[in-house]
Amino acid sequence: MQLPFALDLSGKTAVVTGGAGVLCSTFAEALAEAGAKVAILDINLEGSEKVAAKIASAGGTALALKTDILERDSLEKAREEIKQKLGTCDILINGAGGNHPSGTTTKDYLELEDIKSKQDDLTTFFDLDPAGIKFVFNLNFLGALLTSQVFAADMAEKDDSTIINISSMNAFTPLTRIPAYSGAKAAVSNFTKWLAVHLSKVNIRVNALAPGFFETEQNEALLHNDDGSYSERAKKILSQTPMERFGDPEELLGTLFWLISPQAASFVNGTVIPIDGGFSAYSGV
Ligand code: NAD
Repeated sequence: MQLPFALDLSGKTAVVTGGAGVLCSTFAEALAEAGAKVAILDINLEGSEKVAAKIASAGGTALALKTDILERDSLEKAREEIKQKLGTCDILINGAGGNHPSGTTTKDYLELEDIKSKQDDLTTFFDLDPAGIKFVFNLNFLGALLTSQVFAADMAEKDDSTIINISSMNAFTPLTRIPAYSGAKAAVSNFTKWLAVHLSKVNIRVNALAPGFFETEQNEALLHNDDGSYSERAKKILSQTPMERFGDPEELLGTLFWLISPQAASFVNGTVIPIDGGFSAYSGV
């Protein structure tokens, strides 16, 4: 992996939730390459173990732990094991997150005929399932809050510790169809600022990345037709992205490293940084 710039994280312990996923596995590998000992926390143990094995084969130190960020006991258990095997956390990446189909409408706009026709294959605003909406809010917002509660107490005793949350474009302006995910990521951005203020006297900086559009498993169905070609939605995203392409997960690393670095970002606190090829800057005209 080509690191964006040299950052010496030797002696540091990084905890990455969602570390088996597309974006956060890239983060975990990059942090290990910069010298950090990395704990990969994910409900997908097999995926976490694969990432840990890749890190180990490249000469790094990694620990894969099956952890549910919505269960405090599971997080506490992970914290103890990390403490014993890697030392207490210096860098926390709250990466686990995502959307759920039951919090998603089928169409961008509601039309009168949709209400009247009551088609089974159409999820309108009125059909959105509260359980699905809760799931998405919990996973993205409550998960980041609980994980921060569990790890920040150890971090407060250390120098240069930092928390990075993962927000989204949806937090600035909601995308059509995904009200739960948009609201949940707006909550993540808001919480990033709240936590940065709250923890400022105990020396933990808190910031967030707001990635634009990356082709991952999570959005596979939204971005591709069955034959693999770009969906209308993918084409629309590209037309609203001045750089006219999707991002590569490694393009998030420069901002991640900058925000983590106590030298480069010592006075950067409570920010949400878009990495989006210009999407959030473009009005469409
Ligand atoms: P991903 O689905 O590949 O990874 C998410 C990981 O979280 C998975 O490995 C999953 O097993 C794990 N996870 C889910 N529920 C969990 C739980 N309860 N406890 C622990 N782990 C759990 O997704 P990704 O695209 O790599 O996204 C990573 C983060 O970036 C998410 O917060 C996502 O919302 C955000 N994001 C992604 C994009 C994008 O374009 N991919 C854009 C903006 C923001």
